[in-house]
Amino acid sequence: DDVLVKLEQEHDVSSAAINAWIKPLHIKDVQSNKIILSLDAKYDERGIQFIKKKMYDFYISLAISDLTGKKYDIEFELEKEGEKPQETPAAAPEHDNNNLNPRYTFDTFVIGDNNRMAHAASIAVAEAPAEAYNPLFLYGGAGLGKTHLMHSIAHYIIEHNSSLNVLYVTSEDFTNEVINSIQHKKQEELRSKYRNIDVLLVDDIQFVIGKESTQQEFFHTFNALYNSKKQIILSSDKPPKELDVLEERLRSRFSWGLPVDIQPPNYETKVAILRKRAELDNIYIDDEIFDYIATHIKSNIRDLEGALNKIKVYSKLNKKPIDLELSKIALQDLIDNKTKQAITPELIMQTVAEHFNIQTSDIISKKRSHDIAYPRQICMYLCKKMTDQSLVKIGEIIGKRDHSTVIHGIEKIEKDLDKDPELSKVIDVITKKMD
Ligand code: ADP
Ligand code: MG
Repeated sequence: DDVLVKLEQEHDVSSAAINAWIKPLHIKDVQSNKIILSLDAKYDERGIQFIKKKMYDFYISLAISDLTGKKYDIEFELEKEGEKPQETPAAAPEHDNNNLNPRYTFDTFVIGDNNRMAHAASIAVAEAPAEAYNPLFLYGGAGLGKTHLMHSIAHYIIEHNSSLNVLYVTSEDFTNEVINSIQHKKQEELRSKYRNIDVLLVDDIQFVIGKESTQQEFFHTFNALYNSKKQIILSSDKPPKELDVLEERLRSRFSWGLPVDIQPPNYETKVAILRKRAELDNIYIDDEIFDYIATHIKSNIRDLEGALNKIKVYSKLNKKPIDLELSKIALQDLIDNKTKQAITPELIMQTVAEHFNIQTSDIISKKRSHDIAYPRQICMYLCKKMTDQSLVKIGEIIGKRDHSTVIHGIEKIEKDLDKDPELSKVIDVITKKMD
């Protein structure tokens, strides 16, 4: 119990996480330098992987060494069904057996330009299952929030509509179930289980594709649920039309409802997500550190959170407060090899396009509307300032324009910079995104 208190108060482990993940652990054995914890039989191997991923083993070891003054290695094993744990198990949280991460709710989801549609559609489906969009198909790259949104929908429906039978599975779960049912000749059982569901969420559906009998089974499940007006929610790393080996009949079904994408977050959204994360973890972190992380970690939100965790752990290990200097050291490995990219006209166009929410192809296109032409001129200005390319070359790269157009563009931005402080802020943000 003391360990639990310490974890919560000093190690920023949320009480939801403690209920879901730490309380189902039982002390199995204490050896001279090792503690073996067993995980409740309701969980499986993935539970242990999850605990390790979240570094709870590290925090537990830290808390125990604080309390006992002695360092133990922590090992995990799974309890078998029926094996009695030594301690009385803690009261299970209400929905702990449904594969849902308690942290992934709408409350903790930060809305940005990159995910606004996906979020709105998810809310609509959560509020009116099978009435708004069916199926809801969320797609986007790794670590951008698809699973978070799916869990949020499931949590919301379970809470507000408790009579509905909600099932969230990963493609892997589903595939395993199908394989097992075939092995044990229990296909009928599996079918009736899935046909009794009101809301089915299948995460990372791309992994079902190409696995013949699984895909077949899924097709039947999909049809049965769809025809009886049950809600189906799917996620994938690609839009339906790009799921190559998918049978045509499934592809078209996936597009019946609403396919919505999630894009990588822009700078502002990254900062908002980091701020939210720190707030949820109850730690104070200075804005300049958020700025540093957001400008240096380019890829996805999972990496952003990883960076924040790294800083937290580094500060704890070294017993130093979190400041910019410490953050830079903590993130050294993550950042060095990613940011030493040279600044090229291509990178500039890509960054500017991202900032203005347009396509790189717009910048090099012939379009002359202000919302495209102005970012294009900013590109010209930045290319002159930040690269060694000649004006002729810059014009060539930015859509085969002659060099007088480039000069005109650069002069326009220089003039505007003199009178418009907002513009210099914009240029500043874009420049930061590239370094
Ligand atoms: P995906 O399923 O698309 O690979 P996840 O849903 O697993 O991505 O998201 C990766 C991590 O980023 C999770 O910890 C999630 O909570 C977090 N995350 C993603 N999008 C957001 C958001 N908009 N607001 C807050 N956290 C987010
Ligand atoms: Mg996911």
